[in-house]
Amino acid sequence: MKTALITGGTKGIGKAIALAFLQQGYEVVLNYRSDEKTALATQAEFNMLGYCPVLLRADVSDGFQVHQMFNEFFGIYEKLDVLVNNAGISLVRVIQETSPAEWDRIFNVNVKSVYYCCRAVADRMIGNGGGSIINISSVWGEIGASCEVAYSASKGAVISFTKALAKELAPSKVRVNCVSPGVIDTEMNAHLTEDEMQSLIDEIPLGRIGFPEDVAKACLYLAEADYVTGEVLSVGGGFGK
Ligand code: NAP
Repeated sequence: MKTALITGGTKGIGKAIALAFLQQGYEVVLNYRSDEKTALATQAEFNMLGYCPVLLRADVSDGFQVHQMFNEFFGIYEKLDVLVNNAGISLVRVIQETSPAEWDRIFNVNVKSVYYCCRAVADRMIGNGGGSIINISSVWGEIGASCEVAYSASKGAVISFTKALAKELAPSKVRVNCVSPGVIDTEMNAHLTEDEMQSLIDEIPLGRIGFPEDVAKACLYLAEADYVTGEVLSVGGGFGK
């Protein structure tokens, strides 16, 4: 039985990734930070479909909570096959108004969490003879977004982190890849007006925004693609290419 842990796995993109892995027969652990109501509703929804994912609450930007989360994980399962570092937050703010605290928060949630989680599982995966780590970046991390410098920089960092760790862990058969979503239909984009959304869609060659399931398919591919590591797989309908 293969196992997968998805950070931020109870809503949006993470929820779709979780369902995709459940449908492939994985034992899935859903991490979330604060929204317990949604987490329980997602777990109940998956239960209705015949799946039994485990919920683990932890703020992945906090090293101690990450340590505790993986202690709990390895108290239940002997090995972790796939780690999806999906949890993330965005910030729309011009640079002059971006405070040092906001900058740190974005980097702590979007980048330091990836470091904490990878550090926590590396030896386990090496000991098991391999594994797959999938980090969720963003098209903005590749091309940059106006008024989202902190977010773009954090997602760019996730890409270079992925490429470096892929080289470091490849001899141990642990693969590290990135998925770089374009504009995806989740709560993260709820702040966009209809006009703003339409002007983004106008720039997408495939002519629509993405769905969380589009990102989930890419994650499943990377989880199973034994000869792929250090890659950045864009899932954006051609946006930014
Ligand atoms: P979302 O709907 O806002 O969901 C974010 C999830 O991350 C929630 O489950 C949230 O848990 C969790 N989370 C946030 N901070 C956390 C923390 N410190 N510890 C643990 N969990 C935390 O976002 P989404 O749109 O699905 O985005 C998922 C990922 O895709 C993010 O990394 C995002 O940057 C990336 N992405 C999204 C888009 C897009 O257009 N939506 C595009 C490119 C990349 P709680 O609700 O419990 O706080």
